[in-house]
Amino acid sequence: MVETPTQLQAVRENKAFRLAWSDGCAAEISFHRLRCACPCAGCIDEMTGIKILNDASVPSDIAPVQLAYSGNYALKVTWSDGHNTGLYTWEFLRKLASAG
Ligand SMILES: [Zn+2]
Repeated sequence: MVETPTQLQAVRENKAFRLAWSDGCAAEISFHRLRCACPCAGCIDEMTGIKILNDASVPSDIAPVQLAYSGNYALKVTWSDGHNTGLYTWEFLRKLASAG
């Protein structure tokens, strides 16, 4: 179980989310990278786990227009391309953060 980030902030001048956890893990994940990593059923085939989303179809200037917490385990992002079905769990974000 990955705990809630102590920092979770959309830094628009960096076009990235800034994330930090209490154990010292910290990272910036670009808006584009996070949008392309969307784990929802519209972006990843639920049966095969194969990615359906074509990264090239994601605008390079993609940005979050709305952020919401889902319970206390995930972040829900509404993106500027209208996509809003992705739930980014803390575990998922932590994996992305650790991957650099
Ligand atoms: Zn998606």
